[in-house]
Amino acid sequence: FNFTYKPLKNAEGKVYAILHAAIDVTKQVQLQKQKDEFLGIASHELKTPVTSIKAYAQVLERMIRNEGDEKKANMVQKMDVQLNRLTGLIGDLLDVTKIQAGKMTFNPVHFDFDSMVQEMVDEMQHTTSQHLINTSLNSRSNVYVDKERIGQVITNFLSNAIKYSSDANSIDVASYASDGEVVLSVRDYGIGISTELQHLVFDQFYRVGGNLQHTYPGLGLGLYISSEIVKNEGGRIWVESEEGEGSTFYFALKI
Ligand code: ADP
Repeated sequence: FNFTYKPLKNAEGKVYAILHAAIDVTKQVQLQKQKDEFLGIASHELKTPVTSIKAYAQVLERMIRNEGDEKKANMVQKMDVQLNRLTGLIGDLLDVTKIQAGKMTFNPVHFDFDSMVQEMVDEMQHTTSQHLINTSLNSRSNVYVDKERIGQVITNFLSNAIKYSSDANSIDVASYASDGEVVLSVRDYGIGISTELQHLVFDQFYRVGGNLQHTYPGLGLGLYISSEIVKNEGGRIWVESEEGEGSTFYFALKI
């Protein structure tokens, strides 16, 4: 039940009655639960055929390339790129349902932070010919966290940096250790985020507003998932930005 109280006042401002309302929210809670479950099942069901189409597309691309038809092979490669986007979106939806159900699991392992960041950067560098991703990795630390999940956060920072800086040519990635933490930063020279909106970007479904929505596609889930991951690992996540100048996204993890 949701309880509300409202004092009723007469013309002199004296309370002459109190209105009590008790609203049965059982139905609302049930509906929300059903919606969450549906989202979980739907994203799971979507994942299976997409994974299979992706496997076929990759085989097809290799076959066509071996036959020497570059043009057709490039078309199939473009399909593969779009399938990666689809897989990413479905993965984000699955993660959100996991977070909401309290079922996101973490398997910590020990690893060298800087080499892992470099690996993620190398992977992302392949997806852009416009940007050069510079690195200055000096944390020289081992961390004990879920490597894949933290990799997901770095990929999210990098793909946003690429997406929201289509007029720029470089992105700077840095790491350092201080006060018992490793800190990672991803700086871009793109559209930036106004001071009033900076605290909203880690919220679920928050997205760029207005007509920019069509320019920059997305579901507004990446940073929400990233912040849940970092907080679950006992770390901190934040952003510094100036509109029109660019943004720097950070996270810190205990060493
Ligand atoms: P999406 O990119 O799918 O919209 P995210 O959760 O990754 O979702 O980001 C939420 C919002 O934060 C974006 O819609 C955008 O408004 C803002 N944002 C994120 N990264 C950047 C960036 N590097 N530069 C400018 N704005 C950003």
